[in-house]
Amino acid sequence: MSSVKFWSGEQVPMEMHKVRMVQRVNLKPIEERKAAIEEAGFNTFLLRNRDVFLDMLTDSGVNAMSENQYAAMMQADDSYAGSETYYRLEAALEDMFAMPYFLPTHQGRACEHIIAKTLVNPGQTVLMNYHFTTTKAHISICGGQIEELVSAAGREITSTLPFKGNFDLDRLNESIARLGAENVSFVRIEAGTNLIGGQPVSMANMRAVSEICRAAGIPVVYDASLLADNLYFIATREEEYIGKNLKDITREIAAMMDVLYFSARKLGAARGGGILVKNEDVFLKMRELIPLYEGFLTYGGMSVREMEALTVGLYETLDLDVISQTPLFVAALCDELQRRGVPVVTPPGGLGCHVDAGSFCSHISQEQYPAGALAAAAFIVSGVRGMERGTLSEQRKADGSETFAEMELLRLAVPKRVYTLSQMKYVADRLAWLHENRHLIGGLQFVEEPSVLRFFFGRLAPIGDWPTKLAEAFRRDFGDSL
Ligand SMILES: *Cc1c(COP(=O)(O)O)cnc(C)c1O
Repeated sequence: MSSVKFWSGEQVPMEMHKVRMVQRVNLKPIEERKAAIEEAGFNTFLLRNRDVFLDMLTDSGVNAMSENQYAAMMQADDSYAGSETYYRLEAALEDMFAMPYFLPTHQGRACEHIIAKTLVNPGQTVLMNYHFTTTKAHISICGGQIEELVSAAGREITSTLPFKGNFDLDRLNESIARLGAENVSFVRIEAGTNLIGGQPVSMANMRAVSEICRAAGIPVVYDASLLADNLYFIATREEEYIGKNLKDITREIAAMMDVLYFSARKLGAARGGGILVKNEDVFLKMRELIPLYEGFLTYGGMSVREMEALTVGLYETLDLDVISQTPLFVAALCDELQRRGVPVVTPPGGLGCHVDAGSFCSHISQEQYPAGALAAAAFIVSGVRGMERGTLSEQRKADGSETFAEMELLRLAVPKRVYTLSQMKYVADRLAWLHENRHLIGGLQFVEEPSVLRFFFGRLAPIGDWPTKLAEAFRRDFGDSL
């Protein structure tokens, strides 16, 4: 495992790789950072990367690839139909998950589109531990609704429970009984529950969910996008699985599922996606949609080079040293933030560190997007780009009123093997300063609000000129320093 004990007794995350290619990054003065976020409509999605110091927006498609992944890209078999590259990917997936049918897609949400179109009928409900933004949007477009059944601990910011992404099984039974199995399109289990802090689901819980669904005749769909982190937590936190072979665990998970899909921008550290299916009829229905929306059946919108990188990346996911890097860095960052009084989601999960913006900015009401304001303020004082995961990421109700998020979070994603520990220390330092000066942060309001997935490209403005006051306070404390 890539964490070593120092002579001092301290347990320190240790990189089990060396860096052989680097990218220059810029740390611009605070005045330029402030101008950049203004130009971006106070939405970190709209920043240009040249203005960003540490890009912690997401782990999607930005993970460091291995030399073996790059080497494999050079051997890609370029052909529209029947590429050997495709068959190598299919064989790797078969080896890893042992599910009979595979459909390639261009990314995770494309899988969700096809799954929703195939399995969701208008008026039906999809039960899940927790939603993901694109998942919910695709189910809604197909006329379906969702119910979220995550355990009570999953909705709390701090906890000591190791598997906060688990389903509340009583509520699952209750929902099925109330709705009737025929009105439930499927039950969706999301690995490494993204929006509640990258929190994992235990094997025991997945087994129980799949047994309940099997008895009720409801298909189980597994979102494996964040499987790598979830595997790490199973192999380090769940008694029965500690030290167990990761491929065996992966196959055991897949055996419980009817459909399994993933974003290869996360799983396998490449770019693309895929759906694995057990039932032939379901597979045949989904297959019709692939050439229509994705591409021919042997590439599904992915380039052959990405498919080669994915094939190698999937195998690397089964190496505990490889997959432990992100969770260990997340834990190091969370621990440092907590030590300095900054509220974060605990226990640390996968994916990234999640700052509790609700408490950080308790003086900002949810109508004024505290997590979005914190994301903008954090960028101004550090050049670190995080992502709002709160009310701004929700959609307005039919009557135009806000859907208030259960948690207001600033997510600082830790892309795999991209950043160093000193960079994590910098993030913690600037956030600690911002926390001390949090009264200077004000709210945001929309000036341009898209009706669907508004957080991606909506534009906002500060309520009052708080960014100027924040920059002035920073200058007073840091002088000429960046
Ligand atoms: C990122 C993500 C998706 C969507 O994948 P894209 O490749 O970004 O379209 C779906 N589910 C989860 C859990 C994710 O983290």
